[in-house]
Amino acid sequence: MDERETIERVARWLKASRITVVLTGAGISTESGIPDFRGPQGVWTRDPEAEKRATIQHFMASRDARVASWKYRRASTVDAALPNAGHFALAELERKGKLQALITQNIDSLHIKAGNSLARIVEIHGTVRDFVCMGCGERGPIDRVIARVEAGEEDPPCRTCGGILKSATIAFGQNLVAEDLERAQSAASSCEVFLAIGTSLTVTPVALLPRYALQAGAKFVILNAQPTPYDRAAAAVIRGPIGEVLPAIVDLV
Ligand code: NAD
Repeated sequence: MDERETIERVARWLKASRITVVLTGAGISTESGIPDFRGPQGVWTRDPEAEKRATIQHFMASRDARVASWKYRRASTVDAALPNAGHFALAELERKGKLQALITQNIDSLHIKAGNSLARIVEIHGTVRDFVCMGCGERGPIDRVIARVEAGEEDPPCRTCGGILKSATIAFGQNLVAEDLERAQSAASSCEVFLAIGTSLTVTPVALLPRYALQAGAKFVILNAQPTPYDRAAAAVIRGPIGEVLPAIVDLV
């Protein structure tokens, strides 16, 4: 079956589905200029040591790691990035009443910028929009901390308790928020169509979500340029660029 036929088939499934759940990964944001981790130009494909530096243990134990992380964040393009055609297609799918839950591993806020409603999104790996204090749990807009870094504080401490501040993202070695994981699992367990978009499906526990969907008898669709461990279990796999394939599917729904 060629790609166009598969696109039409997936669109028919979406049209017929009463509950559709989408899981997105870093691959939906590469066309917005944010590199993924494991694609050909991925951060870890190019620098395997970076994976070790991304752990919570390293961040908590090393002031140098925190200084480097705030410096990296100041220079990063993530705050200025704009949604692309793939993100807009998912916002359109929601407007069409055909997207019940959007689980994202991305921390870049681009689904929200594209117009998906926060109530339907589970940001399972957190968000760069906020900071959190690792001591007292205080949370707020990250801009406040970035302003302090720009004013010369290399590793700004919490103003309430003196604890270590971090962006409200989930680092490797850090537990997910239990409530978010439950929402994601319950959505996957009750859907009729489950779309995995731009994810290598290798980061657990998120990578286990397709199993819940498959157990529920959902049609499982993968949109990803590279193979994933689930390709054989999927009802359809599409390799074309997300920014082209996803709008083409949503147009037909
Ligand atoms: P990943 O890097 O493991 O895999 C991304 C996949 O997307 C790759 O298989 C790649 O081939 C595919 N891909 C990239 N661009 C594509 C395109 N235009 N069309 C089709 N396929 C494309 O990503 P992951 O599975 O999300 O896991 C990475 C982890 O890193 C996640 O936990 C996420 O939190 C984090 N992360 C987030 C961002 C972000 O917020 N944008 C960026 C990098 C990493």
